[in-house]
Amino acid sequence: MPLSHFVCPSCASINRFPKERAAQAPACGRCKAPLDVSGAPIHMNDEQLQKLIAQSPVPILVDFYADWCGPCRTLSPILAQLSKETSGQLFVIKVDTERDQRVAASLGVQGIPAVFLFKGGKLADKAVGLRPLPFWQQWVYPHLAPSPA
Ligand SMILES: [Zn+2]
Repeated sequence: MPLSHFVCPSCASINRFPKERAAQAPACGRCKAPLDVSGAPIHMNDEQLQKLIAQSPVPILVDFYADWCGPCRTLSPILAQLSKETSGQLFVIKVDTERDQRVAASLGVQGIPAVFLFKGGKLADKAVGLRPLPFWQQWVYPHLAPSPA
């Protein structure tokens, strides 16, 4: 049975369950907050992100952005669309580099938007700057393994 994975927007813990249950308005197993199964990107701070990278069974796309950055604002709905398409199979995480700079600095981020892909706790790929949706689809889809039965 294919499994879907969702990060709780409230406590940042990972929830996993059979795909069919996503239709039944599931709640977080840990804090009972309603899970967003629409596949909207989740905002995180440095600490939550580090924990997620270490624990996640699915790939993680991290968008390092800032509110003052025009290309970041243009990229935002593009990545939101990608997030929707890959809901349950990929975590799309947003980190506001005005508030959280530690992880971005450790990755050597110098310009934003900077997008990083993590898989199995390791950096898999990175891409800097504004690019169209087809680029991101081609970039990320090969990393999405079919869920184990
Ligand atoms: Zn929760």
